[in-house]
Amino acid sequence: MGSGGGGGGGMSDLFEQMFGMGGGGRGRQRERKSEDVVHKLQVSLEDLYKGGTKKLSMSRQLPCDACQGSGSKSGKRYECQACQGTGVQVHLRPLGPGMMQQIQSPCSHCNRTGYSTPPGDQCTSCKGKCLVADKKTFDVHIDAGMKHGSKIVLRGEAGCSEPGLAPGDIILVVVQKEHDVFQRAGVDLVMEKTISLTEALTGCTFTFKHLDGRVLRVVIPQGEVIKPNSFKCLHDEGMPFHGRPYQKGNMYVRFNVEFPETLTEAQAKAIRAALPVPGAAANGTMDVDDVEDVHKITNVADIESELKSRVNVAKGAGESYESDDDDDMPRGQRVQCAQQ
Ligand SMILES: [Zn+2]
Ligand SMILES: [Zn+2]
Repeated sequence: MGSGGGGGGGMSDLFEQMFGMGGGGRGRQRERKSEDVVHKLQVSLEDLYKGGTKKLSMSRQLPCDACQGSGSKSGKRYECQACQGTGVQVHLRPLGPGMMQQIQSPCSHCNRTGYSTPPGDQCTSCKGKCLVADKKTFDVHIDAGMKHGSKIVLRGEAGCSEPGLAPGDIILVVVQKEHDVFQRAGVDLVMEKTISLTEALTGCTFTFKHLDGRVLRVVIPQGEVIKPNSFKCLHDEGMPFHGRPYQKGNMYVRFNVEFPETLTEAQAKAIRAALPVPGAAANGTMDVDDVEDVHKITNVADIESELKSRVNVAKGAGESYESDDDDDMPRGQRVQCAQQ
């Protein structure tokens, strides 16, 4: 709203320029609304599942009760003398011989409200400011199924950013808190379940606590094999649909299978006896005479960082042969010098 040059035109033009009001003039100025206040509201996944109420305290400015927002004891509103009630001060700056630039800036005397109560008639409650500080605690209703980024509007509850303006809205933006167990994907939920290799091979039963406190049991029957990183879908155990809370998404369970670090000879023997072994010859072993054993075998904890660390392994070794575009120049010059 700072300064800006501009030719003639009346004071209403000035306001239209400042506030982008089309053809309203002074009458429309009163209808200008206070600024809305946007606030992030942290909500747990439990509350988004069940719905509920959250308490929220907000500070705001309300029209002073004692003077009905006029700022004066008499109830009269005084136009600011410094800006003639426009809220804008106009300065002229000489640009050159016979040329002046018009600069507009918000009136500092009335804080661009256009009103200024003389000290003698100032309301003692608000000291002529027309507004007083207020604090209110709201019970904010969270609908079941609301999403991250959903907006809750408390209309007209943000108070007044300037005297004489209609109050603004409080706009609450739902920020979904991270959950320890469940991840949300739209109306669906995803959870991870770690089971042992034995459970993966022989079936298992596990329980978990849902977001509404119910304890659910999942039975993987004997005979079914759970593969690592496979998923199961628990139908209708996801998030409620917003606006249709009796309809729900799915819960997807991703299985981590924990393998034993080592096996004893007896365990290995028992497993070989229990599970079909495809036979040594069938397991990719070639039937030739000249076979070499690989001796250096180590574990790789993280293949991505392992491969990253391998990028420069051969660089030093091949330096005299490789031509690397980046550091080719100095070497090339050196070669030339040697030839001369
Ligand atoms: Zn003023
Ligand atoms: Zn007052």
